[in-house]
Amino acid sequence: MGKATRRWLFADQLGDHFLDSLDQPVLLVEARSVLRRRRFHRQKAHLVLSALRHRAAELGDRAVFARTHTYGEALDRVKGELSVCQPTSHAALAFVSGLERVAVLPARGFTTPQEDFAAWAAGRGRHRLLMEDFYRDARRRLDVLMEGDEPVGGRWNFDADNREPPPPHGLGIPGPWCPQEDEIDAEVRRDLDRWERDGEVSFVGRDAPRAFPATLAEAAEALAHFVAHRLAAFGPYQDAMLSSDGVMAHSMLSPALNLGLLDPMECVRAAETAYRRGRAPLAGVEGYVRQLIGWRDYIWHLYWHLGPDYRDENLLAAHTPLPEWFAELDADAVEARCLSWALAQVRDHGFTHHIVRLMVLGNYALQRGFDPRQLSDWFHRCFVDGYDWVMTPNVVGMSQHADGGVLATKPYAAGGAYINRMSDFCGECRYRPNRRTGDDACPYTTGYWSFIARNEDRLAANPRMARSVYGMRKLADIDEVREHEAARGDAPP
Ligand SMILES: Cc1cc2nc3c(=O)[nH]c(=O)nc-3n(C[C@H](O)[C@H](O)[C@H](O)COP(=O)(O)OP(=O)(O)OC[C@H]3O[C@@H](n4cnc5c(N)ncnc54)[C@H](O)[C@@H]3O)c2cc1C
Repeated sequence: MGKATRRWLFADQLGDHFLDSLDQPVLLVEARSVLRRRRFHRQKAHLVLSALRHRAAELGDRAVFARTHTYGEALDRVKGELSVCQPTSHAALAFVSGLERVAVLPARGFTTPQEDFAAWAAGRGRHRLLMEDFYRDARRRLDVLMEGDEPVGGRWNFDADNREPPPPHGLGIPGPWCPQEDEIDAEVRRDLDRWERDGEVSFVGRDAPRAFPATLAEAAEALAHFVAHRLAAFGPYQDAMLSSDGVMAHSMLSPALNLGLLDPMECVRAAETAYRRGRAPLAGVEGYVRQLIGWRDYIWHLYWHLGPDYRDENLLAAHTPLPEWFAELDADAVEARCLSWALAQVRDHGFTHHIVRLMVLGNYALQRGFDPRQLSDWFHRCFVDGYDWVMTPNVVGMSQHADGGVLATKPYAAGGAYINRMSDFCGECRYRPNRRTGDDACPYTTGYWSFIARNEDRLAANPRMARSVYGMRKLADIDEVREHEAARGDAPP
């Protein structure tokens, strides 16, 4: 197939790096069936449609922009052969692979090609596919923050410098970049309102002005703003949470990256340049680069490596359905301050930063044994940056330990003491992080010990959890703790 083959760009493949040339013809599809199938966050539906429509407007006559009910109908509108870069979900890959006139090309938008990952994984023998090892390999291969064969500064890993609790008065840095909505956004809003009124679609979460980039130019501006004003503060407070600052120094660029509006290598090189010019410290820049060429690519490759059945892993036999208040983002029903705040962030923005996802929302679900597949679906629908490839490993593996330790060597379960150390939530909360029974017992502390007790046999076999199991066995009141937890049922804490 020649260069001029029309390129079908999925809605998460919007950047120029998904094209072979700047005059290649394009097919873009807005298929309404996608919105009908799942109950997405209103702001996510807005962002995706806004980005698609902006891209179609930019491409003008070069693009066929098919606004249809299904992909099949859209394909009927174009003649001839098409090519597509590997789509980002098992289902979409199976769909395009079954179409005769569509050539499926290798994936783009990630930093490690699939064959390099396969070679690395094959070379591991019986060793685990450790993210840290994958990351170091990628640093060398991509020549990022390297001096010859050695890491810049003599260390590969600055995690220990990047776990500071939050400074009480905030970070004192400019807020994140924010876009101006335009006529295309207004049209998207009118359409979503109408479809919702007509009962065709239904959303979760609240509408609000768009907060994330929808065009290539906006994404470039957001990256430049982050590197100039916020990257220098990224490192030390990566794991910290503050009730007055929902994003801390995080980049908020995952929505743009996952729409394909930014190429991750662009972000990596911009951060490395800031370090080399003395504008950001090494520990923070290393931390940021690790997220991109390390975590993001590692998650992407594991999604394919672990196969479509991985989403059904449930080795901790967690079958609790998501309670209504959690599923519906009813933050006001919750008294535990951290959880109420986290749910409100999702309700109002469709976004929280990593530690809130992992240690407040995910941790609560893990402790109560929420069904991992339902929880993945919830995260996927409710977060503006949620897609199948990124949600499945992050939720099933990292957050819920449902794979028994393929992705993370121990469950990310923690009691109220962790949340107290890493945030300012507990001070004014009606629950006490150090109490595990009684009216003011912290639900995270009670939940933590109940989780360890419920999974005692499995966790005792994990050397990294042995101390927790030992601690639980020494608790004289563990039966009372478990009764206290059971009495809460699925009521909001
Ligand atoms: C339960 C759970 C669900 C998650 N769901 C998503 C999701 O739907 N989409 C998503 O992009 N990320 C997801 N993550 C990973 C991570 O939380 C987000 O990428 C990050 O919070 C995005 O905010 P940021 O751009 O400000 O990130 P920063 O802190 O600025 O990090 C830089 C970049 O690193 C990448 N990154 C870092 N960690 C991961 C990771 N574990 N997986 C993939 N990319 C990573 C992101 O692209 C991010 O933009 C999830 C993590 C957990 C624990």
